[in-house]
Amino acid sequence: MNVRALKQRLESLEAAGVTEIPKEAMRGRQPTAMGTIAATVSPPPSQAVVSSAIADDRVSSLRLLAEQVAGCTQCPELAEARTNTVFGVGRPDARICFLGEAPGADEDASGEPFVGRAGQLLTKIIEACHLHREDVYILNVLKCRPPGNRQPDPGEVAHCRGYFERQLELISPQYICCLGTTAAQALLQTTEPIGHLRKRWFTYGSAKVICTYHPSYLLRTPAAKRDVWDDMKVMMADMGVDL
Ligand code: URA
Repeated sequence: MNVRALKQRLESLEAAGVTEIPKEAMRGRQPTAMGTIAATVSPPPSQAVVSSAIADDRVSSLRLLAEQVAGCTQCPELAEARTNTVFGVGRPDARICFLGEAPGADEDASGEPFVGRAGQLLTKIIEACHLHREDVYILNVLKCRPPGNRQPDPGEVAHCRGYFERQLELISPQYICCLGTTAAQALLQTTEPIGHLRKRWFTYGSAKVICTYHPSYLLRTPAAKRDVWDDMKVMMADMGVDL
C-alpha cells in the first residue's frame, strides 16, 4: 500500500470511529533485512468497522424499501384510502420479529405498527418477555390499512409479499413470531388455521418461526392470553430466557 492509499485508509477508519490500530493489525508489516518497515499485506478491517458497515447498509436498504412502500399503488383501493403507509418499527438487527396482519386506524394515522389497543397489548406481551419494543422489530404483512379493517385479500397479500419478505431478509432475525392467521398463513404459505400452526416450529430462511394468536383476538377472547403466554415461554426458552 502506498502512502496516499494508507493515508486514505486511516482517514476512513477514523471517520468510522476507529482511533487506535491494534498491534495484531500491524503484523502484515514485515521487517526487512535493512531493519526498515515495509507494508506488504494490508491489515484486515477491524470487526467493529465491518459490523458498522453492515449495519449502515441494512439501515439504508430498509430506508430505501420504506420509500418504495410509501409510493406503492399496487392496490388502488388501499393506496387511495390510506393516510400513511405503515412500514415497520424497531431494531434493524433485531433477534425477534413480530409479524402482524395489517395496520388499523391508529396505525394508518401514525404510520407506526401496533400502536392502538391491540398494539398496547402486544407491547405488554413483549415487556412480559423481559424485552422492550425497541429491542425487537414489528411489521405487518400489509403496509396499508384495508378499509373498515376488513381482512386483507389474497391479491393484496401477494402485492405486499415482496416488501415483507425483503424486510425480513434485511433484518435477518433468529426468530419470527407470527401474530394470527393472516401473518402465519402469508409467511408460511399455507392455508392451515392458526390452531393447527401453534405449538410447532417452522423455519423461514434461517429464522425459527412460531405462531400465536393475534392481540386483537386476545382483546375479544381474554381466556386465550394463557395460550399466547405459553407460546412466548416456548420461544423465550429456545432463546435461553426462562420466563
Ligand atoms: N393489527 C395488526 O395486525 N397490525 C397492526 O399494526 C395493528 C393491528
